[in-house]
Amino acid sequence: MQAILRLDLAGQPRGWLTLQEAISAYARGDVVYGIGDSLPPVFGGIQRLTGLRSTIEVQPIIATEGRIFDAFTPPLCNRTLFRRDDHRCLYCGVQGSRSHLTRDHVLPASRGGTDKWENVVAACKRCNWQKDNKTPEEAHMPLLAIPFRPNPFEWHFLAKDRVLADQMDYLSQQFRADRDWAH
Ligand SMILES: [Zn+2]
Repeated sequence: MQAILRLDLAGQPRGWLTLQEAISAYARGDVVYGIGDSLPPVFGGIQRLTGLRSTIEVQPIIATEGRIFDAFTPPLCNRTLFRRDDHRCLYCGVQGSRSHLTRDHVLPASRGGTDKWENVVAACKRCNWQKDNKTPEEAHMPLLAIPFRPNPFEWHFLAKDRVLADQMDYLSQQFRADRDWAH
């Protein structure tokens, strides 16, 4: 089902809502403003006084009241990591499905490399095995791209498989990393 992009009042992406969650936010009066063409109307209940059926028009991006969280830390998981790297092994460049890819630590964990966005890349099993406990320099396996930490706009794009045109327009304004985001 189509997801709704939630913003805080400052316009920072804060999560994806299900359509049902978005409708609840409208019903509670929490939606401060919306952006983008409304989705097909959703029918609510029959109103007792008027006998009319209420409809709620949900926009693809909504800014809601609520607690503003501190700096956003993009969670790291293989799904979003592989999407960041376009399902491509960053050593040999071969593209593969999720089951063919692994999370490789550029500076190996055994040598103090941490599990953070800037130190992990998608790698095919063969390259991961070949690189072993070495740095790219030691293994003579230069990286094809610099691993980056996605900002909130980039991360929310990477976290969803289906993004509406209005949502893409909004998020892509703040894409910072040098990457071909069309893929
Ligand atoms: Zn490879």
